[in-house]
Amino acid sequence: RIILGIETSCDETSAAVVRDGREVLSNVIHSQIDLHQRYGGVVPELASRRHITTIIPAIDLALEQAGVTRDDIDAIAVTEGPGLAGSLLVGVNVAKTLALTWGLPLVPVNHLEGHIYANWLSLPGEEPVPPPEFPLVCLVVSGGHTELVFMRGHGEYELLGRTIDDAAGEAFDKGARILGLGYPGGPAIQRAAEKGRLGRFTFPRAWLGDSYDFSFSGLKTALLREVEKYRRPGPRKRRQKGDQPFLTHEPPEYAPNMPVNDLAADYQDAIVDVLAEKTIRAARETGAATVLLAGGVAANTLLRRRLTGALDIPVRYPPPILCTDNAAMIAGAAYYVQRRGVKAGLDLDAHPQLPLVTATAFPDD
Ligand code: ATP
Ligand code: MG
Ligand code: FE
Repeated sequence: RIILGIETSCDETSAAVVRDGREVLSNVIHSQIDLHQRYGGVVPELASRRHITTIIPAIDLALEQAGVTRDDIDAIAVTEGPGLAGSLLVGVNVAKTLALTWGLPLVPVNHLEGHIYANWLSLPGEEPVPPPEFPLVCLVVSGGHTELVFMRGHGEYELLGRTIDDAAGEAFDKGARILGLGYPGGPAIQRAAEKGRLGRFTFPRAWLGDSYDFSFSGLKTALLREVEKYRRPGPRKRRQKGDQPFLTHEPPEYAPNMPVNDLAADYQDAIVDVLAEKTIRAARETGAATVLLAGGVAANTLLRRRLTGALDIPVRYPPPILCTDNAAMIAGAAYYVQRRGVKAGLDLDAHPQLPLVTATAFPDD
């Protein structure tokens, strides 16, 4: 089965063609980083407007790069949530229109399920990866979510724990902003940390007893406190006429001796420490056969290393391009979603708060 996937939940406009939930034939991603960078984060109204102008060209290109026409497509998959309402609506409405005019089934996909199923995909020209073995523990770490999930089989999600405040990706993004490293923060902190020295700063780890929950807001505050010590003395700059007050991305002025790279190294270490520790414990306690990483933070090399080094079961993570938002993961997940009989009508709506629900079990084959 060949599925066309559409993803517009946040600030990537993406269309992709995937065969049988495994083989990526094309994966077109139009990133809006240029648009949002100056604001230091995603501006929802700008995001949805950009999705409107880029989604149709992205779909055309995805079909072309896959070497298929619309006659080869068996289903249309779209992210129904979670995400930004206005952004999701663009994808949902385009998908409904295509399903109607091409006479194809419409498959609604949970964005987080998409992130998880990125682990089943192989990129064009690459050897197909063997499917991950169940039962498994999956750490979903993205810009808006941090969830530790146990899966006995396809579509069966048992929530072991989640963040009680900031998401892991959010912690990276906010940390980068505090350090003046720009947006998106994850890759920026990782790069700075690679140049830094560990152990100069002691940042808190929120263990929250032996629960599988996470908390990162205290860590962010601790970084802010440390960084405040390097703020330049003297009066703050007066606002100039014409300054736009919502441009909050400008880093405050810091003394040039602020050890940005060292701060980034210890900050990253604190985030990764808790993520890795709890995932390792969950894998042991559940007797998992595999550990999966999913979501943008799964691209983090330190996190990958920590887990691989500590466990003697396979630790799997998608290639970086499939960790952050993309439509291939949506088209991939849709294959498994469709197998359990899920489909949507033309009344499909966007669901900004959609949780990762426990769906019907389906035997692995
Ligand atoms: P959600 O999936 O929860 O709706 P999102 O779609 O915005 O949120 P993703 O696209 O999955 O999130 O991931 C983006 C996040 O991943 C950002 O917070 C970014 O900083 C983070 N990230 C990307 N690369 C890295 C990296 N190498 N190290 C750490 N974090 C990273
Ligand atoms: Mg994004
Ligand atoms: Fe995402």
